[in-house]
Amino acid sequence: MVMTKVPLKQGRSLMDWIRLTKSGKDLTGLKGRLIEVTEEELKKHNTKDDCWICIRGFVYNVTPYMEYHPGGEDELMRAAGSDGTDLFDQVHRWVNYESMLKECLVGRMAVKPALPKDYHEEKKVLNGMLPKSQVADTLAKEGCSSPSYDWFQTDSSVTIVIYTKQKDINLDSVIVDHQDDSFRAEILIKDYSYIIHVELSHEIEEDFSVRVVENVGKIEIVLKKKENASWKRLGHPLENHNSLIPRKDTGLYYRKCRLISKEGVTHDTKLFCLMLPPSTHLQVPVGQHVYLKLTITGTEIVKPYTPVSDSLLSEFKEPVLLNNKYIYFLIKIYPAGLFTPELDQLQIGDFVSVSNPEGSFKISQFQELEDLFLLAAGTGFTPMVKILNYALTNIPSLRKVKLMFFNKTEDDIIWRSQLEKLAFKDKRFDVEFVLSAPTSEWNGKWGHISPALLSEFLKRSSDKSKVLICICGPTPFTEQGIRLLRDRNFSKEEIHSFTA
Ligand code: FAD
Ligand code: NAP
Repeated sequence: MVMTKVPLKQGRSLMDWIRLTKSGKDLTGLKGRLIEVTEEELKKHNTKDDCWICIRGFVYNVTPYMEYHPGGEDELMRAAGSDGTDLFDQVHRWVNYESMLKECLVGRMAVKPALPKDYHEEKKVLNGMLPKSQVADTLAKEGCSSPSYDWFQTDSSVTIVIYTKQKDINLDSVIVDHQDDSFRAEILIKDYSYIIHVELSHEIEEDFSVRVVENVGKIEIVLKKKENASWKRLGHPLENHNSLIPRKDTGLYYRKCRLISKEGVTHDTKLFCLMLPPSTHLQVPVGQHVYLKLTITGTEIVKPYTPVSDSLLSEFKEPVLLNNKYIYFLIKIYPAGLFTPELDQLQIGDFVSVSNPEGSFKISQFQELEDLFLLAAGTGFTPMVKILNYALTNIPSLRKVKLMFFNKTEDDIIWRSQLEKLAFKDKRFDVEFVLSAPTSEWNGKWGHISPALLSEFLKRSSDKSKVLICICGPTPFTEQGIRLLRDRNFSKEEIHSFTA
């Protein structure tokens, strides 16, 4: 589901909201008190002038926030006086509401009295973590069995072995972080995460190695001991240790990454290079994005960005080399924006928090693919970078890749000369630029996405070729593109749209 932005009134931007929350004004009407909220009480606050919403057990008085909400009052009112967790997760699970709404916190939901025996289990776990047995049951239905782990040691190392019992596990499926005393490994298994989370019993060196035995789904994480002592136990269990959780319930996990370089690409778009800490193993899969987090005037702000390769012309390496710790982003700076001007202000060596990857694109969509069509507008080009590189390098069946790239002017085209060089180097690849506000010198295509442009562009290599069309850009562009593609009888499976 996509959140549609509504025009906000003057003085109602996110920055204005942050200013209001810092003003010391009593936004809950409770003079700083936190209360226990019953369901009956919550239900009473269901109007625009008095609106409370519960998100993950916490109740917020969002009345003062109404006019500042980018999705508009009506969207917020859909959850008025009720539990908005599901709605919230569907539209913007990544928005850091705890930080944004902290001044609106009314309190927690009151714990319900014990439930009668015949109470339906599904209702009880609506927005929380499913009990492990239930998750295992769900996984079993999908043909998966519950993962488990074990550990062993030598004088100098400790190896944690995770048995996922899945065949399609690779290095992208494993995210490991060692931060302060906490060691956390998250294994992505279909729509679930299996989590190992412990306070290690002894100190380890910063770096570690991760190996995956793909055909049996076994993962080995080898830690280097700081001292040769024998460990009696791995450590103390922390939150969610040894549990399997639906991915939508895991929350976003962040690590601080250092800004290594920042290079102008167009007049307003820059290539940012971030370095992961040595104590993190993270590879962002093709077609997926991460969230970047910065604290802006005391409030944590989070926005999604799609990692790219450092260039379109360098040899494509995916999965990235084990030692490759760099993540690249092409980011457009909006002078009136909230996040990007702050990002642009960062100095080399400063830190940005980077989340675990998310996104619905799957490499399996490339299987047996013959024709790949990419429709990108502005920075909607970013997911196409790795897709393009991956497809040209790894898909033997591929006959043709075409990119139609929509921009306002020639100056806005990201990596134009790289795209032209790639088209020259690889005969399977073609690129066409379409401008919505060209100068009189432009003799290429112009206008917006339209049936005429698409009918010329979407020429398959053969009538029944296996085709995939990827589309990304401003939401109205993407929605319009999907409509036009559906009108041309492309099936839902043949279209992948990138949205929030
Ligand atoms: P914002 O504060 O969001 O403002 C952007 C512009 O919109 C400004 O000109 C502002 O004045 C205007 N504006 C803000 N709110 C409203 C409103 N309600 N009505 C009218 N106008 C408004 N971007 C990239 O550059 N690179 C990427 O790789 C990338 N990947 C993305 C991946 C995903 C999955 C998604 C959903 C988005 C991605 N984006 C990417 C966009 C990115 O997340 C931000 O939206 C973008 O950087 C703008 O952020 P900002 O806070 O600087 O600007
Ligand atoms: P932009 O420069 O404003 O626009 C790029 C092109 O798209 C322009 O030619 C523009 O025409 C056209 N366009 C805009 N709205 C349109 C519409 N309603 N119908 C048809 N064409 C339209 O784009 P940008 O500032 O780079 O923004 C890129 C967008 O992509 C952002 O919204 C970002 O969030 C999104 N994005 C999403 C993902 C993802 O979901 N994975 C990844 C990256 C970026 P005009 O000259 O008429 O405006």
